[in-house]
Amino acid sequence: MSKKVVVIYSGGMDSYTVLNKAIQQGHEVYALTFNYGQRHVKEVQVASDYCQRQGINHKVVDISAINELIGGSSLTSDIAIPEGDYDKANMTSTVVPNRNMILLSMAIGYAVSIKAEQVMYGAHGGDHDIYPDCRPEFVKRMNDVALIANYEPIEIVTPYLTVSKNDILQDGLSMGLDYQYTWTCYNGREKACGQCGACKERLAAFASQGKTDPLAYE
Ligand code: ZN
Repeated sequence: MSKKVVVIYSGGMDSYTVLNKAIQQGHEVYALTFNYGQRHVKEVQVASDYCQRQGINHKVVDISAINELIGGSSLTSDIAIPEGDYDKANMTSTVVPNRNMILLSMAIGYAVSIKAEQVMYGAHGGDHDIYPDCRPEFVKRMNDVALIANYEPIEIVTPYLTVSKNDILQDGLSMGLDYQYTWTCYNGREKACGQCGACKERLAAFASQGKTDPLAYE
């Protein structure tokens, strides 16, 4: 059954796949992108270009003022971006304090205001070790709260909560999605760096599917 759905859409692979899954399921989709003071806005641009091209309802909200409160992550502050493998020791500097709770909270407010029933986001199993706000226990409790925080209950839906990034890519490729319309690299240069943890994880996902990443690399 078609529902009105808000999708938190960063411009990265995971949320791109979630967005398209919601569309292919026949939902009326409202994509929502946050600019929270990431070091670069390339992902946000990619998200905007894609939605414009596809005629998807899209809002970009600048919440970068909150960076004054939640600095200290290498994604939002002037701290070196980690290179090498996407693992806990390496990636902990990319944790933005309370990010998903903040973003979900705003997305839930948006959903209530436009009379949507669900908020979808791309939490997945590969992030459980590094990001506490991508874990099932977090999603479950946010869901409990989203159902009672307003007169209108909102459901939080995470279609890839327990699967890996490789599985998300596999699902997206089976849906016929083109990943040239996504951005993953933590560095916002013209081409992806191929060296940062995010690039390495992305390249490993393509390798796992026996596919070549359509993005250009330095
Ligand atoms: Zn990179």
